[in-house]
Amino acid sequence: MDIIDCPHCEGRVIPNASGICPSCQKNVNDLALVAQSRKLLSLRAEINQRRLAGMSLKSALKAMTAEQFDHAMIQQVGAEYERDLAMYSFEVKKFYLVPGIAALVIGLTVTIGSMLYLQRIGTGIIWHGMVVYGLLSTLTGLVKLYHAR
Ligand SMILES: [Zn+2]
Repeated sequence: MDIIDCPHCEGRVIPNASGICPSCQKNVNDLALVAQSRKLLSLRAEINQRRLAGMSLKSALKAMTAEQFDHAMIQQVGAEYERDLAMYSFEVKKFYLVPGIAALVIGLTVTIGSMLYLQRIGTGIIWHGMVVYGLLSTLTGLVKLYHAR
């Protein structure tokens, strides 16, 4: 058999003698299954297009019910997207918000604490680096979370 674009997973593959894609294990000759996969691919493309245009996942999914896609398919794809979104939000919180807020708290505590304590001799430590890092990391995290919806 020749190299083809798998209609299910879109990979460049050489199916085996019975038409099974080595990548996704689906039959490239099963016409009903191919039709189903094409619908799923175009549903994902429609959703991606709307989300790139700034629409939230919820609104994009709602817009799909007005198109030719059936309810079960929208629910299936919606669940996949929601899983990805939840995972992404978790990563953003873990790598930006938590360290950012921690740095802010520590940086500001040291800065304000040392200024109050050392006020009487007219000096204090301003922990610039920590505060700036904390602020940037927190803001980056918030912007990322805002866009992940
Ligand atoms: Zn495949």
